[in-house]
Amino acid sequence: MKYKLFIISTLFLFNILTLNPMALENEDNLYIINCKRDILTLMMAYPDEIEDIEVSEDGFIYLILNNKKIIYDDKKEKNKYEKISNADIQDTLEVVYPLGDINSVVEGIDPGRARAYIFLSNIYGENQSEIEKNLSFFSTSCGNIMFNKNAKAGEALKKSLDEAKKLAEKDSKINNYIFPISGSYNYRVIQDTGRLSPHAYGIAIDLTRNDSDYWKWVDKSKGSKRIEGYPKELVRVFENNGFVWGGKWEHFDILHFEYRPEIILKSKFFGDKLDLNKKEWYEGVPINEQTEEIIKIINNKL
Ligand SMILES: [Zn+2]
Repeated sequence: MKYKLFIISTLFLFNILTLNPMALENEDNLYIINCKRDILTLMMAYPDEIEDIEVSEDGFIYLILNNKKIIYDDKKEKNKYEKISNADIQDTLEVVYPLGDINSVVEGIDPGRARAYIFLSNIYGENQSEIEKNLSFFSTSCGNIMFNKNAKAGEALKKSLDEAKKLAEKDSKINNYIFPISGSYNYRVIQDTGRLSPHAYGIAIDLTRNDSDYWKWVDKSKGSKRIEGYPKELVRVFENNGFVWGGKWEHFDILHFEYRPEIILKSKFFGDKLDLNKKEWYEGVPINEQTEEIIKIINNKL
């Protein structure tokens, strides 16, 4: 009995000494690769806003954004609800956004539904009056829409709606999904939460409303039916211009499109696998003057 215990404890010790350090090293590696990719896509998505990054002595990473330091990962343990209600930037990029077409409500993911408010406030305005100074009417082929002009959000909306109108000219059914547009800027909180809606920042648009569009209104089967019929080309137009679609959330919000270019870029360049076999952590990103510069900054600091 004693002998058996000895073998077991020796095996246990062997495991701790040999296997775990490797596993830990791998985990550290994955964490750093993921950080670097997040920061690269953020700096590509907000080139005029994010000036630099900084790593504190205790290992916290900060973005320098409009002269302010904003924490990237607070390293707090969070459950999936806290990751939505109290997200840092890392949390907002953790779930990969699926860029492919879907035909039903997605299971278990809400990519883009977590928002880092300190980040949004810094870019789009700290409070209602600051946000409103950053709003502008954008003249699009689908009408004049009020949107935030910072970080090229309004420009991206204009491009999306101009392209959407062209789709509708080719396929008149698409008109029924765009017109009437249900809303854009609206300084309000998300229903039943104390959190500001992305509409309050002027970075979200609701296209034509249908009774099956929202997870609180209908069950998943009705939501899936609506998603199945939703024009895939229309979704792609918005995604190509940096918008995430609420139709790709388990807590679906099908009429809702939200400007989150970093989420789209991360998914586009790096897909859903944290692949360690790639030669470089940035493999997948087009290399040009801008990205080379950003990669250099990141490699220097992380
Ligand atoms: Zn909305």
